[in-house]
Amino acid sequence: MIAIVKPQATQEQLRHLIAWIESRGLQTYVSKGDNETIVGLVGDTTAVDPFLLESMDIIDRVTRVSEPFKLANRKFHPEDTVIDCGFGVKIGGGHFQVIAGPCSVEGEQLIDVARQVKDAGATMLRGGAFKPRTSPYANQGMGKDGLKILCEAKDELHMPIVSEVMDPRDVQLFEDLGIDVMQIGARNMQNFNLLKEVGKTKTPVLLKRGLSATIDEFLMAAEYVMSEGNENVILCERGIRTFETRTRNTFDTNAIAVCHHLSHLPIVGDPSHATGYTRYVVAAALAATAAGADGLEIEVHPEPSHAWSDGAQALTPVQFRNAMRRIELVRSAVVMEDES
Ligand code: PEP
Ligand code: MN
Repeated sequence: MIAIVKPQATQEQLRHLIAWIESRGLQTYVSKGDNETIVGLVGDTTAVDPFLLESMDIIDRVTRVSEPFKLANRKFHPEDTVIDCGFGVKIGGGHFQVIAGPCSVEGEQLIDVARQVKDAGATMLRGGAFKPRTSPYANQGMGKDGLKILCEAKDELHMPIVSEVMDPRDVQLFEDLGIDVMQIGARNMQNFNLLKEVGKTKTPVLLKRGLSATIDEFLMAAEYVMSEGNENVILCERGIRTFETRTRNTFDTNAIAVCHHLSHLPIVGDPSHATGYTRYVVAAALAATAAGADGLEIEVHPEPSHAWSDGAQALTPVQFRNAMRRIELVRSAVVMEDES
């Protein structure tokens, strides 16, 4: 349920309203826009009579929000959320960022690829240290040592770093090391304990859509993180499993438009996992950009044939540089001036 407060309401009246709602065991979520203030009610809303609420002097109108996700819902927060990922790198609300780097951190050579992606225009660096591999015999990643190498790259290049956290017990380690964005992988999208644990921090979370998750399930996963107090959730469409076998996954560019419609959270596209093959990555990156994504996450490896993981979908630094030029061209074609 949302209550739209009249523009002339005073701070004092708003405080009273919030106290009254909270005394009924509900949580409130206030969004102050340019023209109106919205108070979102979260919890068992049967405890509040909507007609009584609407009859209050300061209330303009009351609307039921039928979707099960509330905090992630654009009805609660009409303006786009803008998330600061560190070093002034903002995403959402017209701020577009490209996250690039190898699938796995493989050693000190990460610094070299980091320099190259930054030089080509990437604004955030990615690298997996804890890897969710389908086979237990596949390389599981460098763990803490890998995170430390990412931190070295961050210190040199002054760009935010993104890495996947797989275990709730590792969240504190990510916090202590200063990982700027914690990625929740597709396979963990419904690992509710992990979602709650990252939700207790304020660190931005890059939440990837599950392999077979509907958009509603995806937004409910975001809701889990937000309901613990962390509103810094960046959604990531990375392809879903369909009957198609020619690509690793099927890129659901629709989800970019649908998530923008339903939610105020930024959404990025991951053309690497979405396609699984280097030859299709750029086309999917351009499609996501044209569909209005707030950014991209792209895997880049200096020698894809020797990559520890996901070599078949990696761009080389040269391919990435060329892709960046085309991404910029698409952006300039589709973004309205007053949007950027
Ligand atoms: C990754 O980003 O390397 C990764 C494992 O992605 P996903 O969880 O989308 O498969
Ligand atoms: Mn990967």
